[in-house]
Amino acid sequence: MSNEPSAFVPLSRPHIDPDDIDAVVGVLEGGWLTSGPVAEEFAARFAAAVGTQHAVPVTSCTAALHLALAVLDIGPGDEVITSPYTFAATAEVIRYRDAHPVFVDIDPRTFNLDPAGVERALTSRTRAIVPIHIAGLLADTDAIGKVAAAHDVTVVADAAHAFPAASAGRPVGALCDLTAFSFYATKTITTGEGGMLCTDHSGWAERAKRLSLHGLSRQAWSRHTAQGSWYYEVEEVGYKYNLPDLLAALGLAQLRKAERLRARREAIAARYSEALADLPGLELPAKPLPGDVHAWHLYMLRVDAEAVGISRDEVIGRLRDRGIGCSVHFIPLHLQPYYARTYGLAPEDFPLAAAEYAREVSLPLFAAMTDDEAERVIEAVRAIAGGRR
Ligand SMILES: *Cc1c(COP(=O)(O)O)cnc(C)c1O
Repeated sequence: MSNEPSAFVPLSRPHIDPDDIDAVVGVLEGGWLTSGPVAEEFAARFAAAVGTQHAVPVTSCTAALHLALAVLDIGPGDEVITSPYTFAATAEVIRYRDAHPVFVDIDPRTFNLDPAGVERALTSRTRAIVPIHIAGLLADTDAIGKVAAAHDVTVVADAAHAFPAASAGRPVGALCDLTAFSFYATKTITTGEGGMLCTDHSGWAERAKRLSLHGLSRQAWSRHTAQGSWYYEVEEVGYKYNLPDLLAALGLAQLRKAERLRARREAIAARYSEALADLPGLELPAKPLPGDVHAWHLYMLRVDAEAVGISRDEVIGRLRDRGIGCSVHFIPLHLQPYYARTYGLAPEDFPLAAAEYAREVSLPLFAAMTDDEAERVIEAVRAIAGGRR
C-alpha cells in the first residue's frame, strides 16, 4: 500500500488508521454522501478545538479564504495586505474579488509577515490583513491585530499550516477575526481535500455558510431529507464550496488524534534539530515563543551555500539521489509571472522574501514517518552538508 514506508522517504505521507477507514465506510453505508449531519458535527468539534464560536466546513482552504473576503464585502479596488511568502491560494482569492494584494516583506527569522511593514503599507483602501502562520509557527498576530484595530481593518488568518497551534493558551482560531484551515492531503490533518472557515462573528459565519451552497436560504441544507422542504430561496450569488459528509467523516476521525499527530511531528522536528545543530552550513527552523504551540507542518531548513560548498538546488538534487523527497516553501509570489507582470514587481521589491526563498529547503515531516525514515533523512543531510558522524 502506498502509505507504507518504502525506500523513498517522501516529503509527506498521510497518516491513515483503521478508524479513519471505518469512518468513511460508515458514511458510504449510511447512504447520505453530501453535506449533512457529519459535516455539521465536524464543524462543531473543529470550532471547539480552535477556540471559535462558529466553523463553516468547505471544500478547501482556498474556498475558506475566498468566503472570508466575500463576507467582508471586499471588492473592486480594495486592498488586502499579505505576505509574498506563501502559496498561490492566499493572493488569488484577493483577485477573485477584483481587489489588490499589497505585499509586505517578511520577518526573516520566522518567514512570517512583518507587522512593522504592515503599518507602513496601510492606505485608505486597505480592508484586510492576511497573515500566514508559515510551517505552523504563529505569526505575530498581537502586533498585527493592534495595527488592524487602530485602522479599522479585519484580520483574516491563513492557517493552512497551523492546526493545532496555540499562543499562550489561546488556540489558533482565537487569534484573528476569521481563520481559514486546510485539510489538503499533505496538511496536518486531512480529508483529502477540504477546509474550514472559523470565526466568533455569527453574521459572517451564517453568510459564509449560505455562500458555500449557492447562496441558498438555510433550509436548503436539508431539502432532500424527510424533515426538509423542497422550497428554497436564492438570496445572493454563491458558490459550490460545501464539504460532503464523506470527507467530513475522515476529518472527524483525524481531529480526534490531531494532538497525537502533532506531538509526533514535534518529536521528529526536535530529533532533526538535535542531529543537525552542529552543521555550520545549516540554519535550523525558528523555535516558537515560550508557551506557544507549534503545529510543525513543515521543517524549513536554510542552506548557506558557501559553507556547504554546493547550492541549495544541488542539495535538493543530492537528497533526491539518496531517496529523500524535499521541497521549497515558497517561491515568493512577487517572483511569479502573474504578480510580477500585473503589479510591476521586481525581486528586490521584497528582498528578504527573495533571499530566504533562495536558501530554503523543507525536509520530510509527517506523523506517519518511522524513526528509521527520520534517521535516513538525518544521515543524508549530514553526508551532503559536510558533517562528521
Ligand atoms: C495548502 C495551502 C493553502 C491552500 O489550501 P487548500 O486546502 O489546498 O485550498 C493556502 N495557503 C497555504 C499557505 C497553503 O500551504
